[in-house]
Amino acid sequence: MKKVMAMLMASVMVFGLAACGSSSSSSEAAADSSSADASVSEEAASDELPTVGVLIYKYDDTYISTVRNALEAALEGKATVSMQDGKNDQATQNDQLDVMISKGVDVLAVNMVDAKAASGVIEKAAAAGIPTAFFNREPDTEVIASYDQAIFIGTNAADAGKMQGDIITGLMESNPEYDLNGDGVVQYVMFQGEPDNPEAIARTQYSVSQAEDNGTAMELVSEIQICNWDTEIAQKSMEALLAANEGKIEMVIANNDGMALGCIAALSNIGYNTGAEGAPFIPVIGVDATDAAVEEIAKGTMSATVLQDGLAMGNAVAAVAMNMASGADYLAGTDLELDDTGVAVRIPYAPYLG
Ligand code: CA
Repeated sequence: MKKVMAMLMASVMVFGLAACGSSSSSSEAAADSSSADASVSEEAASDELPTVGVLIYKYDDTYISTVRNALEAALEGKATVSMQDGKNDQATQNDQLDVMISKGVDVLAVNMVDAKAASGVIEKAAAAGIPTAFFNREPDTEVIASYDQAIFIGTNAADAGKMQGDIITGLMESNPEYDLNGDGVVQYVMFQGEPDNPEAIARTQYSVSQAEDNGTAMELVSEIQICNWDTEIAQKSMEALLAANEGKIEMVIANNDGMALGCIAALSNIGYNTGAEGAPFIPVIGVDATDAAVEEIAKGTMSATVLQDGLAMGNAVAAVAMNMASGADYLAGTDLELDDTGVAVRIPYAPYLG
């Protein structure tokens, strides 16, 4: 029921966007009837509906699942969606791209497995004349700018880190007992998604620099843990860190909630962060505001996260893809604006403390 409501809301939002734009209304009429009987009208309308080819870096990613569901819901009845799971393998995604191009999709929406491989995608899309909206994992600006029918829809990576930094300062100010050794410095551990992912690097860097700019002294305990955004890998790393530094860790900062949850699992195994009265607690901060993280925050086992709005992202990708398909201004009918790069739009983050 929840899902149906979300889909309905997303459809309403996108119809709202389209109504503000300049596109013709014939596909909207088809879309209206399709919500009553999707299978029949999709068949009847498939000749006139644009085809959107969507390449996802991997289906098994909580945030991306939210984006994917929102995108599909928003395009329901407005476009024929062909979506593929890259399974976190760039070679697989390249093959999927080739198939989509040979099928003649009207628009590509690409969530790169490896953002550094985007130049290959651009070359093929440009050769075929297919407009391409990259999203979530950010190619180099020069690569996007090299094709006049390409755009990037992402977030401002620095913002998520800065919000984490503000959260750290706020937590330390309102909970002086978190400074376990009372030295006025936050001894923290850091869990990073990938070593060379720009989003991960920015979160790692800005979370700490923002806290320091706020006047909160920070000190890294042990080296930065690279855990591939993965809960189990983070849990193992955290177990090792706790074994080597028990009592010395005062804060856990993770680039995403998946890794934060792994850290909480490791902590709870030794009696920390269980949510029980009087249990020792080390603040854990993530990014994404996944359902699981929101639950942990409600239980008091996690301190905070930063909301990456997957629904807004999915709706934005859908709106831009439809504009690209109809030849309209890419941002027509949306409240999105190009950033300083001139080829990217940013969906804002928001702090979430429960
Ligand atoms: Ca301290």
